[in-house]
Amino acid sequence: MFTLPSLPYADNALDPVISANTISFHHGKHHKTYVDNLNNLVKGNEFEGKSLEAIVQASAGKADKAAVFNNAAQVWNHTFYWNSLKHGGGGKPGAKLASMIDAAFGSFDEFRKQLSATSVSQFGSGWGWLVVEGGALKVVKTANAEVPFTRGQKPLLTIDVWEHAYYLDHQNKRAAYVDAVIDKLLNWGFAEDNLGRA
Ligand code: MN
Repeated sequence: MFTLPSLPYADNALDPVISANTISFHHGKHHKTYVDNLNNLVKGNEFEGKSLEAIVQASAGKADKAAVFNNAAQVWNHTFYWNSLKHGGGGKPGAKLASMIDAAFGSFDEFRKQLSATSVSQFGSGWGWLVVEGGALKVVKTANAEVPFTRGQKPLLTIDVWEHAYYLDHQNKRAAYVDAVIDKLLNWGFAEDNLGRA
């Protein structure tokens, strides 16, 4: 059985960019519903007992397993998202990641611009990501529940751009939410931990 992971901080730790009210719905309702749905969907079939990552990989791209994929990937995405944020985040990463960002994007400001533009331009629901592919950093977006690791990209950080992530606090202003997340909440220590994992 999968369980809803606890948040790695208090429910008001991300306020005012992401309020405790948003967290109560986003973590307590949306994320929890994906966990509950997944447990029901894997009961008594070939997915039961597999790891979350294995379920995502095994169901990706299979039309008859779309419900399993969507719920498994959304459980994974949301846990990754909560860890991608922290109170007092933002700023710049440490030297190793900073130099990789300079190599890939030219400068931190250019990286920041691309992560913002890519996340804001995802049409409809989805996610903005910083990933590693072939040893190089990239900014990518995915639709709905799609995850980069099924396409050989290792995620370092993500920003949820589903409307439920920002509508209570920012209404239709996705760019205001995305920019505030980048500048005030991104957890570069988490990105560095992910980079370190081969
Ligand atoms: Mn979400």
